Amino acid sequence: MSQMTRDEKQLPVVGDRHVDPHSYPEGVAFLDGQYLPMSQAKISVLDWGFLHSDATYDTVHVWNGRFFRLDLHLDRFFGGLEKLRMTIPFDREGVTEILHNCVALSGHRAAYVEMLCTRGTSPTFSRDPRQAVNRFMAFAVPFGSVANAEQLQRGLRVAISDKVRIPPASIDPAIKNYHWLDLVRGLYDAYDRGAETAVILDFNGNVAEGPGFNVFCVRDGKLSTPSIGVLPGITRRTVFDLCAEEGLAATATDVSVAALREADEVFITSTAGGIMPVTEIDGVRIAHGKVGAITSRLMALYWQKHDDPAWSSQVNYP
Ligand code: PLP
Repeated sequence: MSQMTRDEKQLPVVGDRHVDPHSYPEGVAFLDGQYLPMSQAKISVLDWGFLHSDATYDTVHVWNGRFFRLDLHLDRFFGGLEKLRMTIPFDREGVTEILHNCVALSGHRAAYVEMLCTRGTSPTFSRDPRQAVNRFMAFAVPFGSVANAEQLQRGLRVAISDKVRIPPASIDPAIKNYHWLDLVRGLYDAYDRGAETAVILDFNGNVAEGPGFNVFCVRDGKLSTPSIGVLPGITRRTVFDLCAEEGLAATATDVSVAALREADEVFITSTAGGIMPVTEIDGVRIAHGKVGAITSRLMALYWQKHDDPAWSSQVNYP
């Protein structure tokens, strides 16, 4: 063995480090033109998606082997790409095919399916984003939910954090993004106060949204949800569509913290879990701590729609 210098000896071994596949969820990713197990789907640490959070993404779910409202997710994703001036080498049909392939190859019947695009890197390491080669990726992993089975039954315990969601004048929230430091700090506030998740505020001190979800409250049979500074969630949109079918009044408007605390019912919405009840806010019970009648009705309708061809499409399994 050749003599090593002191500096070399201090360097850790570089090479094919063993990767424990069990530390990754079971699933399939599409990356740089290839389908790969999740444990092998890796990108450069120099990618601006990672270094600058310069990325957009969308998440759709598959339930009982069917995509739910895939068209709406594709609309939002392609809208984000355009606003961020990113280009990918696939059109809508191409992305659809890749998403189908990821799910089919994974074999999952209930999946969390993400399409994303990072700014990528510039081949010359230029700092000019126009010179970066954008990187499209997609993956399908097992379905995940903001609320677990117990929380779905009894309702979530939520804290209202005073953290303020990044204002829409800074980042258009319709561009689904990874600017989550406000949400993560809110989440820690919630944990510190014994709650399970957090709702954070908009720049006017009204309710905004939480880590991965929109918020609804029901008062005297009428629903309301924050209108500004929040991601226009597809599940939120689905609640509006269900309310229209059911003849329920639903509006996007300012929702004050007081209105949330005094609501008859509160629920949150996300592709990761659907419609999920909240029964406690800052240690105080909402609606005597029971999941409300309107929330329960909407939850049932939401899952029924997953088999309806007008709202869902079959995955192309082999
Ligand atoms: N708000 C934020 C910040 C989110 O990240 C998400 C989903 O990830 C949502 C709301 C809910 O959106 P959707 O219903 O489209 O999943």
